[in-house]
Amino acid sequence: MGKVLVITGGSRGIGAATAQLAAQKGYAVCINYLRNRPAAQSVVDEILASGGKAQAFKCDVSQEAEVKAFFEQVDREFGCITGLVNNAGILERQSRLESFDAARLKRIFETNVIGPFLCAKEAVLRMSTRHGGTGGAIVNVSSAAAKLGSPEEYVDYAASKAALETMTIGLAKEVVQERIRVNTVRPGVIYTEIHASGGEPNRVERVKTRIPMHRGGQPEEVAQAILWLLSDEASYTTGSVLEVSGGL
Ligand code: NAP
Repeated sequence: MGKVLVITGGSRGIGAATAQLAAQKGYAVCINYLRNRPAAQSVVDEILASGGKAQAFKCDVSQEAEVKAFFEQVDREFGCITGLVNNAGILERQSRLESFDAARLKRIFETNVIGPFLCAKEAVLRMSTRHGGTGGAIVNVSSAAAKLGSPEEYVDYAASKAALETMTIGLAKEVVQERIRVNTVRPGVIYTEIHASGGEPNRVERVKTRIPMHRGGQPEEVAQAILWLLSDEASYTTGSVLEVSGGL
């Protein structure tokens, strides 16, 4: 049986780099995206051109019915999944907490927390031996923000990532006897387009002197950590947080 990996938010940034590396390592890759179909398709095309297997799937991870339909489509096209990377995530414009309204908080928590819960549910229903599956691995993409708190920038985003880390701890224990491992990667400051949505496309350049390595990270460096956690090389690792942050 081949390895089948679902990556949420696989059209750009860390998700796209993870999709490319996973394909090189022999996974068939299900690349989820929200709006940017051309970006998702270009990741798929590159994988197909290298002889790999991949397909793009549109789905808003915060919408329960869409997530269910997405995983059912994956079942039909790829068979049973063996891994999930909960990577899709958003932040909003940098500002202080007193300017947040409920609409912003709902957007952040729906995508960054409810989305990964819904996707993890579908993955467990397929991979858990309790439900007739043969096991697998889940990697949740958190952020150094979960421990730093992101003051003056996005405390809401930081708190959503802390929630995701707590989900990792609880779910890892819940499914450990069902042949599923659940882990977190905690990237620091990575060169992707996410900073533009915070209103500062060049944020990495501003903050990099605060990073002990004095540089931002590349999406491929995060992808390496994710693929290790998914692999059998990490067979005794569950419920853990792997920092990929240049020492931040
Ligand atoms: P990015 O370049 O902004 O890409 C975000 C991806 O998520 C895109 O593929 C986007 O799809 C997708 N997405 C957004 N909302 C979605 C939704 N509701 N449903 C499905 N897909 C959705 O982000 P990134 O920097 O690679 O970040 C990836 C993850 O790493 C996020 O969880 C982020 O919080 C985390 N992280 C990033 C950094 C960093 O410095 N970059 C640091 C720490 C943690 P479309 O292309 O269709 O819009």
